[in-house]
Formats: sequence, C-alpha cells, structure tokens
Amino acid sequence: MSRIEAETLVLLDPRTGTPVGELPCTPVGEVPLRVAAARVAGEAWSKRPLEDRMEVVRGLGTALLARGKELVAVLEAEIGKPPGEAWTSEVVTMGELFAHWLEVIEDELEPVQLELNPVNYPGKRVEVVPEALGVVALIMPWNYPIHLPMRTIVPALLAGNAVVFKPSEHAARCGALLAEVFAAALPADLVVTVQGGPAQGAALVAAGVDKVVFTGSVAGGKAVAAHAAQHLVPCALELGSKDAAIVLADAKLDRAVEGILWGAFHNAGQDCASVERALVHEKVYDTFVERLVARAKELRVGADVGPLINEAALAKVHAQVEEAVARGAKVRCGGAPTGQGYHYPATVLTDVPTDCAIWREETFGPVLPVAKFSTEAEAVAAANDSPYGLCVSVWGKDVAKAQAVALQVRCGVAYVNNCCFSGPMGGAAWGGRKQSGYGVTGSRWALAALVHPRTVVVDRSGGKKELWWYPYTPALSTMAEGLVELGRVGGSRLTGARNALSGLLGRWKNG
Ligand code: NAD
Repeated sequence: MSRIEAETLVLLDPRTGTPVGELPCTPVGEVPLRVAAARVAGEAWSKRPLEDRMEVVRGLGTALLARGKELVAVLEAEIGKPPGEAWTSEVVTMGELFAHWLEVIEDELEPVQLELNPVNYPGKRVEVVPEALGVVALIMPWNYPIHLPMRTIVPALLAGNAVVFKPSEHAARCGALLAEVFAAALPADLVVTVQGGPAQGAALVAAGVDKVVFTGSVAGGKAVAAHAAQHLVPCALELGSKDAAIVLADAKLDRAVEGILWGAFHNAGQDCASVERALVHEKVYDTFVERLVARAKELRVGADVGPLINEAALAKVHAQVEEAVARGAKVRCGGAPTGQGYHYPATVLTDVPTDCAIWREETFGPVLPVAKFSTEAEAVAAANDSPYGLCVSVWGKDVAKAQAVALQVRCGVAYVNNCCFSGPMGGAAWGGRKQSGYGVTGSRWALAALVHPRTVVVDRSGGKKELWWYPYTPALSTMAEGLVELGRVGGSRLTGARNALSGLLGRWKNG
C-alpha cells in the first residue's frame, strides 16, 4: 500500500506498516497529454488486422505469465497477499483470461449482416460492424491489482482500443510492474499508465476519453459517474457489496463451512464478492457456527489471512465490530487487531442486530456475522434487505431448490454450493445491481460496451429514387397500408397485396 504526500506515493508494507520506497505521481497536467498519446497509438492499432492484434495480445499474455513469480512477490509485498492466493486469484486466472478472449474474439467481432426484405429494400446491404471506441480509461482499486485491470485491458485491446490505466494509489508497485511489461510487449503508448490518486483519476475522466471503466468504492463510483456525465462519457461501475450466503437445512455442512470460510476470509475479506453475511437455517445453525468457528480459529494470521490494506481500513473494520459488540453481538472468535502491521484475525460474530453497520455496510475485512432463519422466504428477504447486490451463494443438497432460492436474490451473480470465484472468468458476466454498480466486466456483454457498433448501409440498386422519397402522394399511403396489412398478424393477405401492388404501380407511374 502507499499514501500520497506532495505528489509522491510513499510505499508502505501492510504487513509491518513501514515505508519501503517511493514512486512519483503523474502530474495532473500531464494526464491529457498521455490520453492524446494513447489516442494516436490506438488509431494505428485499430487499423491493424485482428490477427495481428491477437498475436500481440498473445505475446503480452506470455510475457506476463513468464513473470508470474515477480507478480506474486509484488502482490505479497504491496498488498500482503499470501502467495498461494496471489498465484490462484491473480496469475492462473489471468492465463485463463487471455486464453478465453483469444479463443472467442474472432467470432465476437464478426460483423452482423441484416436479413432484409428484398421487396421493401431491393439492392441494399446493411451490416453492423463492431469498431474500436478509441481510448478506454481504466480506474482501478488495489485489492486485485493485477487481474482486475487485465480483465478489461485484454478485450479492450483485442477490440482495437487504446487504454489509459490508473492503478490504485495503494497498488502503485503492481501498476508499475504491469507498465513495464506493457512497454516491452505492446506498441508504444497503446496502454499508458497514470500513477496517483483521485486527482489523477478525475483528470483522466475529464481528458477526452471515450469510456470509463471504474472499479472501486460506492463513493468513488458515484463521484466518477457524476463527473463522467458532465463530459458525456459512458462508464461502467463495479462497486462494493454486502453479499449473503444462505445455508439451507439440507446443505452438506462440511462443504458449506469450508466454502463460506474461504468466501469470507480470503484476501482478508477484501473482495467485492466476499461473503459478508451468513444466513443459516435454524436446524443446522448451531452445528454450522460451531464448525465454522473451529475452522476460523485455525486460520493463521499472515499465512492464511493477510493484512488489511492500511490503518484506516483496520480502524473501520474494528469500529464496526466494536459497535456490534456494544449492541449485544457475541464474538465467537477473533474480534481485535493483532497488533502486528494492519492484521486483523478471522472473526465470527453471532447475535448481531440487523441495523448494525457490520450487518448493513460493506466491511471489507475478515469478519463474518452469522444469523439464523426459519423459512427460505425469510432468508431471501434478509439477503435482499441490502442496498447492494453483487452476488449471493446458496448452499443446499437439493440443487434445483437452492438455485430457485438464489434466483430470488436481486444481484448480479448467483452461486449454488460455491462462492466468489467466477469474477476472473473471461466468459462470465460480472456486474452488480443496486448500489453495487452498473455495467458489466467479463463476457461478450463487456466487450459490447468496449466497441461502437457502427451500422454500414450500402445500396447497389441504382434506381433513381426510393419509394418512400418525395413526392408524398396518395399512392404512397396506399402502398404503405398494404405492406402493413401483409405483415400484420391476422391481416388480410388479399387486401394487403392489392393495396401494396396498386400503391406500387401508382408510385412508378405518377410518383
Ligand atoms: P476507491 O473508490 O477508493 O478507489 C478506486 C480507484 O478510484 C482508485 O484508483 C482511486 O484513486 C480512484 N478514485 C477514487 N475517487 C475518485 C474520483 N473522485 N475520481 C476519479 N478517481 C477516483 O476504492 P478502493 O478502496 O481502491 O477499492 C475497494 C472497493 O472496490 C471496495 O468497495 C470493493 O468492494 C470495490 N471493488 C469492486 C469490485 C467489483 O468487481 N464489483 C472489484 C474489486 C473491488
């Protein structure tokens, strides 16, 4: 992590809280120049054949994966990610991401040819061609600082765009390492990096970009959306959440406990899709809590649960726990900072009043409140009783029933007997509802928002004029009425054909 002091990013180790170096911020005044450079590079790039672009992007993937160990080392040093987690959630997934997009991109960017009625539109060809948007601004958080930017950079580049990438101020070293690989593997200025905080992010939104892809907090997303609206720039917002896990009475408890344990505590709970609330059927509640607490106590601080990103995050998490405890919640394990760096232990709470911050607001830390329910309707209502809607997971042996329960929760991703792992999949849509944002990253729906669908109309009919051009005569109305009658469900074919033909003849003869 780092903090900004006088245009400098002071890099800190979250495991100890000690400064470990510095990086310069990009001067705000330089941001428009970087966007302009990216635009020039992007224009040349978009004209290259797709096969060329694929080769270059394939090379970028190879270059990144070849530096997997370095990426993992920086993730550990800068964010405090346990290495196993850094490999699986950021590097392995990145390899899969490149493979997915390189596999599907030719089909996805294929122009769409319209089938036209030759009577109405003789000699005409209409196709919709996906074109590059231009410059995509990418404003990123720190919690998955390698994989999250690549989730957009890969399809954006393949679609012919340039990208200006602003890493989080708390993940500047990861950003710098990515920038180094981009410089070696890509044409100059095709992916430009801007280092700094909200000031640089705001300058980027205002610098004439064609799209903003923002991932971060709800407050940051709202500020970016309002700013982008002033410049009439479309944006996609991937924001926070308070995702629920619902454990049904028939759940396989061993799996539910292990899955929810990981869902709540991986990345120290600093995942937009972390399980932040567990709702457990009353029949299995006591056993579930007992087993979950036993397993949470076994998680090692540092090795299994890394540190929080900074002091402010640590203070926020602990304040939420303290408020809940003051209001009657029971701490079943954890519950206080370890005193070492920004570490907080895996914490399980029960008996939490549902109007406490820890039940309602994003915690973004390794704390799981668990509550009991009696009916599925009650569990669904509790899961939906949230301003957020990113994911839900439902755990039950009867998969069809569990899925039916999951689909009643208003959110972007529904898991049955699993959680939190599909975000990095290139082919799976990822996007929240309500305060969790709008727009999608991942999948063909994300690609659709990274291109402009240009309609191209070519007319080879060679006639003097179209039937619908001037002059407007009674024959035009007769012809149109006939065509509607012919196409209308339940219309009279005879009347339709008669009117269409007489109108047509009238047009040919007298205009
Ligand atoms: P943040 O909002 O503080 O910052 C995110 C990025 O936005 C940073 O690069 C920051 O410099 C920039 N920024 C902040 N305010 C800005 C402004 N007004 N104008 C322009 N740029 C601005 O978020 P964070 O603390 O880095 O990330 C944590 C949050 O991200 C959590 O809420 C988490 O749930 C969310 N998140 C969501 C997803 C998802 O896919 N939905 C994924 C990861 C993280």
